[in-house]
Amino acid sequence: MQDANEKIKQKSTVNIENDIKKEKDKNTEDKVKSDDKDAKEKPAISAIVKKDITEKKDDKVEKLKEGYYYAVALGNIVCFPKFSFTCDVNNTLEANGVELAFKANEPIVVVQTNKPQISEVGGYDKVGCLCKVNSVVHKPDGLIRAFLVGTTRVEITKVYTKESVMVKANVLNDQNEHSQKAFAMMQQLKKQLQNLRNDQIIAPQLSEMLLESELEPAEFSNLLGLALSKENVKMQKVFLNETDVEKRLQTLCDIVSSLIANIDTSKYIERKVNENLSKTQREIYLREQLHVINDELNGCVDEAEEFANKIKELHMPKDLEERALKEVARLNKLPFGSPEIGYVRNFIETVIELPWDKRTPDNINIKKAKAVLDSEHYALEDVKKRILELLAVIKLTGKVNAQIICLAGPPGVGKTSIAKSIAKAMGRKFTQISLGGVSDESVIRGHRRTYVGAMCGRILAGMKLAGTVNPVFLLDEIDKMAKNNQGDPASALLEVLDPAQNDHFKDNFLEIPYDLSQVLFITTANYVRDIPEPLRDRMEIIELRSYTEVEKIHIATQYLLPKQEKLAGLRKGTVKISNELLSTIINEFTFEAGVRSLERKLAEICRKYAVAKVSGTKVLPLNEQNLTEFLGHNRVKTLDIFKGGQIGQVPALSVVGSITGDVMLVEAVLNEGKGELNLMCKPGKMMQESSKIAHALVKSRALSWGIQPKTISKTDINLSIPQTPGGVEGPSAGITMTTAIVSAFTSNPVRPGVGMTGEIGLNGRAFPIGGVRDKLIAASRIGLKECIIPKDNEDDLWDLPDEVKSKLTIHLVTTIDEVLSLALVNPLKKVEKIEETKEEKEKSE
Ligand code: ADP
Repeated sequence: MQDANEKIKQKSTVNIENDIKKEKDKNTEDKVKSDDKDAKEKPAISAIVKKDITEKKDDKVEKLKEGYYYAVALGNIVCFPKFSFTCDVNNTLEANGVELAFKANEPIVVVQTNKPQISEVGGYDKVGCLCKVNSVVHKPDGLIRAFLVGTTRVEITKVYTKESVMVKANVLNDQNEHSQKAFAMMQQLKKQLQNLRNDQIIAPQLSEMLLESELEPAEFSNLLGLALSKENVKMQKVFLNETDVEKRLQTLCDIVSSLIANIDTSKYIERKVNENLSKTQREIYLREQLHVINDELNGCVDEAEEFANKIKELHMPKDLEERALKEVARLNKLPFGSPEIGYVRNFIETVIELPWDKRTPDNINIKKAKAVLDSEHYALEDVKKRILELLAVIKLTGKVNAQIICLAGPPGVGKTSIAKSIAKAMGRKFTQISLGGVSDESVIRGHRRTYVGAMCGRILAGMKLAGTVNPVFLLDEIDKMAKNNQGDPASALLEVLDPAQNDHFKDNFLEIPYDLSQVLFITTANYVRDIPEPLRDRMEIIELRSYTEVEKIHIATQYLLPKQEKLAGLRKGTVKISNELLSTIINEFTFEAGVRSLERKLAEICRKYAVAKVSGTKVLPLNEQNLTEFLGHNRVKTLDIFKGGQIGQVPALSVVGSITGDVMLVEAVLNEGKGELNLMCKPGKMMQESSKIAHALVKSRALSWGIQPKTISKTDINLSIPQTPGGVEGPSAGITMTTAIVSAFTSNPVRPGVGMTGEIGLNGRAFPIGGVRDKLIAASRIGLKECIIPKDNEDDLWDLPDEVKSKLTIHLVTTIDEVLSLALVNPLKKVEKIEETKEEKEKSE
């Protein structure tokens, strides 16, 4: 059977060869001649007898011999291997062939041509694609539609036409299809395609197939070639004609690289264009948007109109309203982008934010006011009395600024909280500004509008916060203002506080006058003497003194602790602190005249209780031992050394800065020398002066105090005086230094428990000093028993708390001799002068 087939095949081949030979021999027809010329380029068309190249398998199906195929030429489709597509075959001869091939289950050759009729053109492209015919459908017009799938490239060598179109073709195999280079190029292409994914150069499904499927380089290049050449038939043909896979991939690499470069460039250009859209253009665009949004939201109310409406609602004095409205009109006229828009808008907003006629009614009831003051403050009876007087006068006269009060005293003694209570008692709003460190007039009065970042001054800022024209306005730390070349803030304040001027206060920024006459101004200061003179003249000083330990304990238990319990969310009485424990907290954890640190410490304790409550743990009751767990380890223990009883060491009563009274130690240590006085610290002017006077005094009174002058001239005195931050009074240690030097020279200890304060003159007179009350409170706090102070300070003792008086014996002295006889253990004995011996003289020389 096989032999028979072989024979038939051979016979057929021979037949065809004969045919072709005959064909060549004929060589007479012009048409064929011309086709022959192109034979190397394009296969020639020959008319053949169909039966010569078919085999009749049965009655119905004719099969072509190997290497012969029915063929179809398509105008706009280049077919690739693996490419499936549907085509309508319009040419009857070709349609015949397709149908026959389908019936015989044979492949057909598809070739691209741009000539409509195969018979007319006289030739096909040299390379086509062998396709399987999957299905054939007869259309009503008699033609057919075929569904084809490409399988492999073929080279057409001959074309025959009769009842159908047939070709002789050789299969073209891919070259280098499995080379390493081909795989590498495919990977490279995949990477590049990944970058192009978002740019939709290739259809998403196709791109997914190319990137995700395990394609061989040959298939990959076919598919990508088809995808990239899209409708470009010429390019597709180039891919089809190329059988070397490496070369196909190389061409694709070039195409993809140039595509990426193109995309990058266009993106760059797009970005640049966007960037270059000028700021102004953007602003115009945004403004327009804003306009539209405003229209949508408010029904066409534009900014200027809105400002004007608001100003009319303020009920400003008519002339001022007119000026403000003028500015609003100006805002509308200013060209877009003008820097003035910012200034004008800022001005209008300030006008709108300020109170012009809004006020709280005064509701002064002296009984109620007293109740408010008492409920918020312990003691301070004199202060409260004076405040009630002030309120009574305001009620009767209806004038608030006849007298400005200044609450003066150390920090934390309740100045601010008294001012707040006044506001509460009157039913007024409270507002506050701090003047500490203010050295520039414009801070009070504002900057001119032409300044960059100009704004109104602190007075008007305070009024904005208050929101009413008649608040209680606290000017804090009026003594901490400074002068500089930018003007004197005190003079601006004078205008604020002067009832004759403050109804038309002029702020540089606002420019239009503002009425401050209904405001109740209250000032505070730590040091009265630091308040600028003209201001001090205008004010009535109400002094708040430092608190004693007993007072602090009362304030803590009755006011601070309940307040802090409430703030920490605890029930009243949750935190139990005994008076002894409070006294330890006051003496060892705080160092102050007022109660601010004490309040902070109590707040700390309350917070610890709050944490315990929230986390469901139990807090151990507070006691001496566990106090550090609540408040940390920074306790200040009073050293016994401060209680005196040593040679050359004297406790000096002092005031530390603005904080509180304290006890410091003045020490004198002698060593052989040339009679010089060395101060072991960097003392202030007054301190230096006092030490020199003390030295001179000891020299001049030496014999009467039992000291030989020659000893003094051969001894250097090293004097240590503690630093006192800020306070001019400091230790006021003239008598103290003298006592320390005398004690050292006479080896006569100072009596234990004795402290002193006082200045001294060269004649030995004790001069008065300041801060007596605070100094004595401190002395009693650290446990001194006796204090020596100048007699001239006797008047300062009138308001010394009883608890201090009961703990201290206070000696009032006029001379240094009285001081020494009170302070030293042994009475001083007068001595006769002993002259220097010859040897001593020589030695000293
Ligand atoms: P200052 O303004 O003098 O620096 P504050 O008015 O801020 O001090 O007072 C600090 C804290 O101490 C505030 O909580 C205040 O209520 C409280 N305080 C001060 N003195 C008293 C007092 N006599 N009675 C009750 N609480 C006081």
